[in-house]
Amino acid sequence: MSEQPSAAYSVRAVLQRLESLRRAGVTHLPKSPAGADPALAVSAPESSRLPHEPMPRKTAQKTSSPAAAFRVEALAELERRVAACTRCGELAASRTQTVFGAGNPSARLVFVGEAPGADEDRQGEPFVGRAGMLLTDIIEKGMKLRRSDVYICNILRCRPPGNRTPLPVEAANCREHLDAQLAIIQPEFICCLGAVAAQNLLGVSTPIGQLRGRFLDYQGIKVLCTYHPAYVLRNPAAKRHVWDDIQMLMAEMGLKVPKKSK
Ligand code: SF4
Repeated sequence: MSEQPSAAYSVRAVLQRLESLRRAGVTHLPKSPAGADPALAVSAPESSRLPHEPMPRKTAQKTSSPAAAFRVEALAELERRVAACTRCGELAASRTQTVFGAGNPSARLVFVGEAPGADEDRQGEPFVGRAGMLLTDIIEKGMKLRRSDVYICNILRCRPPGNRTPLPVEAANCREHLDAQLAIIQPEFICCLGAVAAQNLLGVSTPIGQLRGRFLDYQGIKVLCTYHPAYVLRNPAAKRHVWDDIQMLMAEMGLKVPKKSK
């Protein structure tokens, strides 16, 4: 049985609430029980973007402003809804738990991968296996950010059995959750990790080799696609291309890019 989106599941309501809180100068949001406030129940794409509060170049998790506090609360509410999602019957039946996403709710940069694997399914966190360790190295050793500065999620929030590629219907089912996360976080940049993430987010079938190495647009957000860390582990020669892509991203974000060694 598939779960139908609720009428209250509106990103617009979230964004309107965010704006009204900001105008009212609210500095603290009370905790509310799941489902208590329909305006915190979110999803569906939203192209209109509220002005982002200025964030430091290297963002620490920032929850003191009304916007940041609202994002924390809205993501927590969305996570509770996702945990109960059964739209993909096979995945809902076989998962240990949903893997919602993790990181800074006010991140400038969101990494989007494919789907949870066995480690992620067990721990409930995205990118915690071998590929996750490589992604952490890219963020911390390469970009000189903390993993907690960025936000990390996937196209799917449940593990496909045997780590098979997500079915188009599963990606479509979970798209509402992804778009809701992006609408709450409102990142300036998205880095798609691998073909499944890139093709699903952008709605194209172009090979990842042709999508990478340039900036694309998703609802006003700059998107950079690169190879999935798991692919890099299997094909070490791809590491050079990923580093080229990441340096391009760093330059666009205004981060210091190391000089090329000869
Ligand atoms: S993959 Fe997404 S849409 Fe499908 S059951 Fe899991 S949370 Fe729901």
